[in-house]
Amino acid sequence: MLRSSRRKMRDRILLHICCAPDATIPWPSLRSEGFEADGFFYGGNIHPASEWEARRDAVLALSRAFGWTAEIAPYQPERWHEAADRAASAPEGGARCAICFSLQLGAAALYAASNGYKYLCSTLSISPHKSPDAIGAAGEAAAESAGVKWVHRVWRKNDGFRLSVARSREMGLYRQNYCGCVYSMRRPGACGSAA
Ligand code: SF4
Repeated sequence: MLRSSRRKMRDRILLHICCAPDATIPWPSLRSEGFEADGFFYGGNIHPASEWEARRDAVLALSRAFGWTAEIAPYQPERWHEAADRAASAPEGGARCAICFSLQLGAAALYAASNGYKYLCSTLSISPHKSPDAIGAAGEAAAESAGVKWVHRVWRKNDGFRLSVARSREMGLYRQNYCGCVYSMRRPGACGSAA
């Protein structure tokens, strides 16, 4: 595991942000480890567009509150659907989510590689409903393909999810009640989102 005491310079890391509440713990944690951590919001999985706007605005509000940079990827839900619709009927945590992780982390890895980041990490693992192993596999593959290094963290450890809920409430951040895609709207509260 990389720790600041083992680094002579601040390493640039891109933190893939699935939503602002889930970033409230990982982002400052990476900064306190000594990383120069910036955020990246993909969002193509989010439905409908008005929900994407609300989550985008929450990420930007968090970025302003922390004083750190967050990149917002162009909203391209059609690309997400092209890849993920073939697993539309899969249960949450199954094949559709594995595809979704790859799309989100693939986009983040490409942005990281094109913008001088050495490392990639994700907030996804703060959810008690998502598999850290599946996230790690997608992250490793995306990072290797783009030529950056995956930093694996399981943010839900040490009560991370509960702390993220508390902190996002304190900060007045928008909190959704479903994971994000149109298929997850059938199961509000899943994927670690707010109920
Ligand atoms: S439930 Fe969440 S992780 Fe799974 S495919 Fe939908 S948006 Fe992606």
